[in-house]
Amino acid sequence: MTTLAMFSGGLDSTAMLVKLLAETKDELRVHHIRMANKENRAEAEQAAVERIVAWCRDRYRPFRYSESALDFTALDAIPIDYLCIAFVACQVAIDTPGCNRIAVAALARDTDIENRSARQRRVFETLHECYRARKLGEPDVQWIYPVYHATKAELAARLPRQLVDLTWSCRRPVRESNGAFRACGTCKACLARQGV
Ligand SMILES: [Zn+2]
Repeated sequence: MTTLAMFSGGLDSTAMLVKLLAETKDELRVHHIRMANKENRAEAEQAAVERIVAWCRDRYRPFRYSESALDFTALDAIPIDYLCIAFVACQVAIDTPGCNRIAVAALARDTDIENRSARQRRVFETLHECYRARKLGEPDVQWIYPVYHATKAELAARLPRQLVDLTWSCRRPVRESNGAFRACGTCKACLARQGV
């Protein structure tokens, strides 16, 4: 089994990554998209991703890690994340020999998740078909949702505390005068993490 894990550096995808590392023998490729847009969260996310990848490689097992970037900072609108993820996942799956699974950290409790996941797979499948027409990639690529049924509190409880502290969820980080980032406390992601 070769699994591509789409990784944002947030609590959900960190819990997913740990689950795949600890509970499977999958050949793992972990991929982060530096999603630059008007929210200005790419830098804070990136820092979290680097710390978490290093931590997990050290504590669990080795895995292949890569990044790509989508820069929409010149746009007023904020592009839909799950579509960006579908687009990038396809390119990276094609770039990963034998890749037959894509893991994303969607949760059953996420807003409108069934519809969003279906649309995400549709975008992926259309792209994947184009690559298959050129005989690239595996014929069957399955999407998996390893932490789908968990709550955020459960995910946090399963992870080492140190690792939870390394994750980054805020969509609109505030830069402090010393250059460090602080979570805004009011965005959707911050609210979802409250009490965790
Ligand atoms: Zn926030």
